Amino acid sequence: MKHRLLHIGLFIFLLFPGTLFSQAPDPHFIEKIALDEAERWTKKAAFAEASWSGDYDLTYQRMSWQVDPAVRYISGVVFSKFTSKTDGLDKLRFDLKSNMVVDSVTGRQGLLPFSRVADLLEISLPESLAPGSIDSVTVFYRGEPVSSGFGSFETGNHGGVPVMWTLSEPYGAHEWWPCKQSLADKVDSTDFMVTTPEIYRTAGNGVLVSEIVRKGKRTMHWKHRYPIATYLVAIAVTNYADYSDTLDLGDGRKMPVVNFVYPEYLDAAKSNTAVTLDLIGLYNRLFGEYPFSDEKYGHAQFGWRGGMEHQTMSFMGGLYFELIAHELAHSWFGNCITLASWHDIWLNEGFATYATGLSYEHLFDGIYWKPWKSGLLKEIVGKPDGSVYVEDTTRFSRVFDARLSYYKGSFLLHMLRWILGDEAFFRAVRNYFNDQTLKYGFATQADWVSHLEAASGISLDEFFRDWYYGEGFPVYSATFENKGGGLLQIGLSQTSSHNSVDFFEMPVPVRVYSKGKKDSADFRLDHRYDGQLFDVAVSFPVAEMVIDPDLWLIRKIGTITGVRNIPAVHHDVVFYPNPSGGSWHFSLPEGEIPEKVEIYNDAGTLLEEKIPGRDSFAFPGLPPGIYLVRLTTALRVINSRLIRY
Ligand SMILES: [Zn+2]
Repeated sequence: MKHRLLHIGLFIFLLFPGTLFSQAPDPHFIEKIALDEAERWTKKAAFAEASWSGDYDLTYQRMSWQVDPAVRYISGVVFSKFTSKTDGLDKLRFDLKSNMVVDSVTGRQGLLPFSRVADLLEISLPESLAPGSIDSVTVFYRGEPVSSGFGSFETGNHGGVPVMWTLSEPYGAHEWWPCKQSLADKVDSTDFMVTTPEIYRTAGNGVLVSEIVRKGKRTMHWKHRYPIATYLVAIAVTNYADYSDTLDLGDGRKMPVVNFVYPEYLDAAKSNTAVTLDLIGLYNRLFGEYPFSDEKYGHAQFGWRGGMEHQTMSFMGGLYFELIAHELAHSWFGNCITLASWHDIWLNEGFATYATGLSYEHLFDGIYWKPWKSGLLKEIVGKPDGSVYVEDTTRFSRVFDARLSYYKGSFLLHMLRWILGDEAFFRAVRNYFNDQTLKYGFATQADWVSHLEAASGISLDEFFRDWYYGEGFPVYSATFENKGGGLLQIGLSQTSSHNSVDFFEMPVPVRVYSKGKKDSADFRLDHRYDGQLFDVAVSFPVAEMVIDPDLWLIRKIGTITGVRNIPAVHHDVVFYPNPSGGSWHFSLPEGEIPEKVEIYNDAGTLLEEKIPGRDSFAFPGLPPGIYLVRLTTALRVINSRLIRY
């Protein structure tokens, strides 16, 4: 859902001068609002899949709602069709906050008895239903909803005109309508009929079927024929102006991109949302086709300054590039494939945040890609602790923690891309998105990991233990030493910022430069233990080394020290005197260590071998004659002829 601006938001305002804001917002401002609101709800119970959730499958809901954005109130009639999944289903339960008044419930044969137990509505069915039996109920209800989380049911105004909106994520849907607040059952199909005073219009999920004005009232009918998670059902009401763009899906099919905006922002909105078509095209190529292409994508402006990815109609506090890119990406990750548990919120937010990064990589000639990565990295390592996995889902502010669930989550994806390589990583993403057992349903952390492992053949247990459940990050330090003869030795150390992880096993990218940066070379060091030494071949003396120059890793960099930066000039090795009476000297470049010397006869038979001195060896017992000598160093093998007189 919501998204906070990074510092590079500033660049984007330069690119999209028609922004809704007259100046770049303070990037911490939005975050602060979210956290303030979040803290008020820290005592809220965690969502747990209700024990009755599996009793029935909700197949269709038709909601007829009456609202007036000037009044904090809703009344409604919700028709629900369901299939029994249990033996003798005689009670149908819905989540509905206790303060909401239920006037009556009807079934096919008239009124049904019901009771209220805490925040549940329990309806007694006229007969008990066997598995597979289909039935329906209609609930008539009304009330002034309480509003939790980011504001599950809110009213406000823009320029003096009232506006009303809902934002149920994560636990707020039952505060304004009788629903099944489940992360295991999506409603397969929905219709929304929203009646308001005539001056207002309603934005909602799916396709606008009709808009009828009668006796001072306006009724808008939105139809949605894709499965939808309960927290993604939403309406927003004000004096909307609307306009559409058309996306060509490439095979003759076309899809509208619909925008409901405040009339005073219409011109600015039109220029800001134009990029949405490019973004859908990009995500189609990277992930697979937009999953609601039979209907639409859309934006509806609302009174909260973040954004929320309501299915096919994202609610937007501002229509700026980064927020458009983020909420759109949720169509693939969050809406089509929905997290099965709030513990794994990164499956929604890490993906949507990374998709924003990918849009910077691919659009605007990539100029914002590196600033985006460094902006995120700075936030992530700003504190030494915190896991991406959400241990405590009762803490609303923790579930939606920007640093951990959004930024660190997205960088986990970036690191997986580095480990797997682009081909396997993006194949895993597409396979995950197109997995028919997950698509339009729910996914677990294990589902995603299994796609990564299948695409790469790499076991990722250790990665997720360190990076997902563990906290913190490595701080790297290194030494490098020109050993001569084209050899560079790199010593790589790490300390962990948090004691939950001893050591982060990672392939570490390093780049080395010659003096003046005329030459450079890249290496990928498979870092398995602290203080590990790596010998790599270089074609130039190394004067400078950089760890992770392209920002692949979550890390901090400590000290990098070059030692004995001697020029690695290759020079021939001469054995002297030659001829000799039995001992020879030689001269190697500094740092090149002789390891072994062997003497062969003309026929190539090994006669003697020994460990030489630093610059000499002797074979006093050798009879006069011509011999072949082979001197082996850490870098090379040197062959020459020796004459013993
Ligand atoms: Zn989001």
